[in-house]
Amino acid sequence: MAPELSMSALFDRFRRSAARLLPAALLAVAMPMFDAPPAAAAELAKDLFGRTALPAALPAKSYGFYSKGCFSGGIAIANDGPHWQAMRPSRNRRWGHPTMVALIEKLSREAVADGWPGLLLGDISQPRGGPMLTGHASHQIGLDADIWFTPMPNRRLTVTEREKIGAVSMIRKKGLTVDESVWTPARARLLKRAASYPEVERILVHPGIKKKLCDTVTGDRSWLQKVRPFWGHDSHFHVRIGCQPGSPDCKRQAATNPGDGCDKSLAWWFTEEPWRPNKDPDAPKARDLMTMDALPKACRAVLDAPSPVSEAAVTLGGSGSAIAAAPVQPETAGLPLSASAFLPAQGSPVPLPQWRPDN
Ligand SMILES: [Zn+2]
Repeated sequence: MAPELSMSALFDRFRRSAARLLPAALLAVAMPMFDAPPAAAAELAKDLFGRTALPAALPAKSYGFYSKGCFSGGIAIANDGPHWQAMRPSRNRRWGHPTMVALIEKLSREAVADGWPGLLLGDISQPRGGPMLTGHASHQIGLDADIWFTPMPNRRLTVTEREKIGAVSMIRKKGLTVDESVWTPARARLLKRAASYPEVERILVHPGIKKKLCDTVTGDRSWLQKVRPFWGHDSHFHVRIGCQPGSPDCKRQAATNPGDGCDKSLAWWFTEEPWRPNKDPDAPKARDLMTMDALPKACRAVLDAPSPVSEAAVTLGGSGSAIAAAPVQPETAGLPLSASAFLPAQGSPVPLPQWRPDN
């Protein structure tokens, strides 16, 4: 579609069709007053958000927290760009806040300029975010993205390959340290490039990768502060950006502690404690309990909002120009960067993770 088709034109279309549907919509609201099952509010959020095909055609706003929320105004990154290929297309998780998607496109270009062959993209979010039927506890508000450590091959992968090919672990089969036969300084450069963007607040990697960076990065080490150890993340890294201007109901995460993080907080990962087997592996996961009531109220409206005219209308392609079609929020457009400033650090000198991943 033409990238210059403006969002306000799209909204006009939605408004017109909404007006036509209004009487029916009122009926639909009025009718079930007596026979709606009281369990409606208890419907699992993952079942509703996991079924959405397209984003909510509203201004870009994140609601709630990375692991408990949703977002509107999402755009997709194309399955193929000049410097990226999206993996696992069947999951339909190429959606993010426009700032997130634009940042991935920029990283793909700058990584290639740095000598990296291009990005293989893992999951961002579902079209309207929210909890997922499978995988990820976070990735719910359009501000998280997984990027593989496996470089993009110099040919286009087939759909089947994108579903089937596995990412290569950077960690030795037995142990917690980097596999020297696969780790390369180019991967450290890629992480440094991702960390260089002010929007990026955290990059999650396996503790062994963090340790490798701690042991080898020379010169400017300030960017290591953003690179945090976490479970999983041995074959991909996880880029998390902060709450964006225009999203007052986006809950910010605690700031990372000052310093390069090559300290006690890293040493903890090389003790036995983080790797103890789960005592209750069959206990329900957060996503299996999260009802609509558990999410911010706005997530119901996000779920019920109209879709854009087509997926193509809200997909960022290789030129990066389609980003102009993303919703803008005039009321916040001129806000200074400090509008998304970090929260003050919380007390603990050793920031330990507060939850484990669900899978
Ligand atoms: Zn991740």
